[in-house]
Amino acid sequence: MSFSNLGLSPKVESAVIAAGFETPTPIQAQAIPVAVTGRDVLGIAQTGTGKTASFVLPMLTRLERGRARARMPRTLILEPTRELAAQVADAFELLGKSHRLTVALLIGGVSYDEQDKKLDRGADVVIATPGRLLDHFERGKLLLNSIEILVVDEADRMLDMGFIPDIERICKVLPFTRQTLFFSATMPPEIQRLADNFLHTPERIEVSPPATAATTIVQRLKKTSDLPADKREALRGLIRDHEIKNAIIFCNRKKDVGIVFRSLQRHGFNAGALHGDMDQRQRTATLDAFRSGEIPILVASDVAARGLDIPEVSHVFNYDVPVHPEDYVHRIGRTGRAGREGHAAMLVTPKDHKALKAIHAMLRTEIPWVDGAPKAEELDESVASSRENGRGRRRGGRSQRGGRKPENTTETAAPKRHEPPEPEIKAKSEADAPKRAAKPPRKGSDGGKPAAKDKSRSGQQRENQPVGMGDHVPAFMMRPVRAS
Ligand code: AMP
Repeated sequence: MSFSNLGLSPKVESAVIAAGFETPTPIQAQAIPVAVTGRDVLGIAQTGTGKTASFVLPMLTRLERGRARARMPRTLILEPTRELAAQVADAFELLGKSHRLTVALLIGGVSYDEQDKKLDRGADVVIATPGRLLDHFERGKLLLNSIEILVVDEADRMLDMGFIPDIERICKVLPFTRQTLFFSATMPPEIQRLADNFLHTPERIEVSPPATAATTIVQRLKKTSDLPADKREALRGLIRDHEIKNAIIFCNRKKDVGIVFRSLQRHGFNAGALHGDMDQRQRTATLDAFRSGEIPILVASDVAARGLDIPEVSHVFNYDVPVHPEDYVHRIGRTGRAGREGHAAMLVTPKDHKALKAIHAMLRTEIPWVDGAPKAEELDESVASSRENGRGRRRGGRSQRGGRKPENTTETAAPKRHEPPEPEIKAKSEADAPKRAAKPPRKGSDGGKPAAKDKSRSGQQRENQPVGMGDHVPAFMMRPVRAS
């Protein structure tokens, strides 16, 4: 199979060769011949499968005819995060070099001026996060009735972030006759409904079963207590026990991203942090530093779990067991890409037993333990099941309100599902951090920290123990009190 029999224009074919792509990936081989004819595509594919080029290449071919008019873009690509939107813009730059198209990147966290200018000039391609696109639309800077092709990318991620109502609003103002290319890694019922409403007799293309972890990833579990200080120590142990080139450490909560990041820095590791409350400039700088190897360890929330194309991540560490099993696959999918060997290790506390069971059920296999599986009495079933129940209730409530809220866009900034509002992390210290090697020299169990200055273990535990009711304030205490 080659790119020459997919129906792409000669100009696009040359761009593909120039980019060094020799053979189309399965999603490209199946989606491109359909998309170039103008038919709708429902692509079930994860990132890393080459799905970006599977819509960029047919779009380039179809855009060769016609020109954009001021404020009336011809094609629209919706992405859940700014990073993904920027990545797609890069793909246009790479593959559309000789097309001289105007590409407008409409994302939050940057000024409107430049974006307005691009739209005024007439954009062939608009790549946007839903919130910022609607901002421009409502300000009258953009008309959507000339859109010929709509791409909805990472639809299940859009659902996670509460963007579905925005997508529905946008779809309703687009011409009925447009072509829609719709991509999602998984097809939960809400996404199926959206696809049923907005696609016209699409060609359904599924390139790998959803939630299949790459076979090139060596996965391991490590048991630990659920005391934060113990977890951090176990994490340091994992980092030291592996030959790391670069690693992403995933936490469930933004607050923990900050805590783990600062703790690693204190212990002499060269780390950066990435989560949705950081401003765009910091996020881009941190990602660039990670990509270039300047920062070998990145502590991240799930915002970094999906879609970001960071080639050659040697290790993924899950500081927390993710609440939703499919997030496990997305997280570890950052390593072992493109047939390379990857390593993924996860800390498991007694309270994570249920969530781990769900992951095993989804993978249809059990991940081996580093130092043997925990004994039955080491598992805390009661806590795990009460957490599960609480989650079930919250999910129901969310869907009534129309989805989960985004964690990583300033245009609609709000907490994400398992990341409640957290205090800002001091990302400044990240920028100021001295550049060091990934691992500090080994010094006793606490790794590189002078013993005399070391906080006692109980001190660290105290630091992390909730005071009074901790974060939880019962609802009855929040009710207004009528003064007598
Ligand atoms: P994606 O799934 O779109 O994020 O693509 C993952 C990576 O694969 C990107 O770095 C692409 O540049 C690369 N890629 C996409 N298509 C091909 C191909 N046909 N041959 C080689 N690399 C590709």
